Amino acid sequence: MQKGKISVKTENIFPIIKKFLYSEQEIFLRELISNAVDATNKLKVLSSKGEMKGELGDLNIEVVIDKEQKTLTIKDKGIGMDETEVQTYLNQVAFSSAEEFITKYKGEANIIGHFGLGFYSAFMVAGKVEVITKSYKENAIPVKWSCDGDTEFSIEETEKAERGTDIILHLTEEAHEFLEESKIESLLEKFCKFLPVPIKFGTRKEKIKEGEKEKEIEVDHIINNPNPIWKKNPTEITDEDYKSFYSELYPYSEEPLFWIHLNIDYPFNLTGILYFPKIRQNIELQKNKIHLYSNQVFVTDDVKEIVPEYLMLLHGVIDSPDIPLNVSRSYLQADANVRKISGYITRKVAEKLNELFNKDRKDFESKWNDISTFIKYGVISDEKFSEKTLGICLLQNTDKEYYTIEEYKSKIGETQKDKNSRIVILYTQDPKAHYSYVVAAKEKGYDVLLMNNVLDNHFIQSLEMKAELSFKRVDSDTPDKLIEKDEKIESALSETEQKAIEELFKSLPVNKSSKTSTKAMSPNDPPVLIVKPEFMRRMTEMQYMMSAVKGDHEDLPFMNHYESIINSNHPIIVGKLLNETEAEKKNELAEYLFKLAMLDQQMLQGEALHDFVKKSLKRLD
Ligand code: ADP
Repeated sequence: MQKGKISVKTENIFPIIKKFLYSEQEIFLRELISNAVDATNKLKVLSSKGEMKGELGDLNIEVVIDKEQKTLTIKDKGIGMDETEVQTYLNQVAFSSAEEFITKYKGEANIIGHFGLGFYSAFMVAGKVEVITKSYKENAIPVKWSCDGDTEFSIEETEKAERGTDIILHLTEEAHEFLEESKIESLLEKFCKFLPVPIKFGTRKEKIKEGEKEKEIEVDHIINNPNPIWKKNPTEITDEDYKSFYSELYPYSEEPLFWIHLNIDYPFNLTGILYFPKIRQNIELQKNKIHLYSNQVFVTDDVKEIVPEYLMLLHGVIDSPDIPLNVSRSYLQADANVRKISGYITRKVAEKLNELFNKDRKDFESKWNDISTFIKYGVISDEKFSEKTLGICLLQNTDKEYYTIEEYKSKIGETQKDKNSRIVILYTQDPKAHYSYVVAAKEKGYDVLLMNNVLDNHFIQSLEMKAELSFKRVDSDTPDKLIEKDEKIESALSETEQKAIEELFKSLPVNKSSKTSTKAMSPNDPPVLIVKPEFMRRMTEMQYMMSAVKGDHEDLPFMNHYESIINSNHPIIVGKLLNETEAEKKNELAEYLFKLAMLDQQMLQGEALHDFVKKSLKRLD
């Protein structure tokens, strides 16, 4: 047997790092500026400990484009490096000083770096990289490190007046887009908007008042806001601050309804602000608005798979040093901290909603329409969230009154219990279209809910399982059968008469029902009733949604599935229709009654409706 070591050579790894480690080329800027921020923060820590003598001075980081030399330079005034440090940190791939520093100054420094790889992302855009650096240490000799993108490098002494590091990237032909001011500005906006050290990119003009006159002066163009409000103590922030931060994040958006300031130290560190927007019908448009930061460095705004899906409807910022500054998305997903974080956010959001409910019920009700999509989404898709929020889920009836599920159960518990003691909830998505059905249900002493939210079909199914309720749409059966009781109404017609009536209606050309039958109802119920049985209708709706996703939703066989029921106790049926001897008149009357029922289900439209009106007028002649 032979044993040995697989040898890994840097010559082989280097191209891999350059090409594949970061999915997006532009990441290099974030990595290099993060290093500059780290170097600056380290210096601040050393200074506060008295380990660095002298003034800190201006610590701004600067990004400079030189179009002639085709270089992009990132300058910082941080701790810098001496020759040994350059040897150790820059020449050894995957050797980071960050861990070392964090261990030494536990809890005192916010350091972004971890992997010891970020610096090499420079070679994704640069053929040659030069580092000119001078350590903060007394009498430090500045050094220049230079590398052409292979494993050869050179180090020499150089001149540099100020403390800190300049990283000079000689951009490759393909990367010349990074010489455009607008390109760099938009990248800085994206990745560095809230970095904790001011970042200067060129200058801008500013108007100032000098006595009576206005004067234009040139000032540093600082692209970031180093003190974003999520890092501040919530007691120092006013509602106006929260709102203006929201509009800074999402210009032109409607005001948020409310927000949560997240702030936790243990068992992981996380700060942030989550806003509840007004959620409209099209929920897809409102997803992906949460920005993920790690120590104020932008990581991603694609939080899919990191936070539960329903939380993606919230907007705002989450910042945690425990969110790994990626490398890859799958790495993020598999990270245990990321999973804990989403659990924590779920809990916080549920607590906030409960607090709002308990503090001011009326106010909660007034916001319900705007937040219900979010809550329903959570209840349907996340068991933990559902446990915490089902109790404050509101149901609204057609009289615009709000009830919690428990309150509603006690309100209708007695009247709407079927013969198997199951509570049946009646609902409509469209009170106007179902007007007669709603009236009929109410006349029987029932209450009708309004369920017109995009997610209500799913929400209803979820409640049927969780809260042991049955839901029936008001037009799914005859009023007396909506909630099945043990009562029986006698029929005024004999069986033969019923059969004859049934046959008459079956033979009508307009009648496309899947089933036509007679039934003994109250004489006050309509003579003919068209119903859409609950089960069949839900199946149809599901099919419709699925085919709509596929893009072909025409000609679905069940789309117009309905049944018709003839009231064998209605005076017109018992009297007029049964006693009519002329076949043609009999047919005409039956068709007229049938079309009235269709009208009630809004099944007559356009030409059919027009013909009906015309014929009805003729009858009056
Ligand atoms: P990381 O930032 O993850 O530690 P990098 O490859 O980006 O890894 O950098 C390696 C090391 O090089 C850093 O840990 C740091 O010690 C040093 N370094 C990089 N950039 C700078 C800089 N601008 N100023 C001082 N030191 C730096």
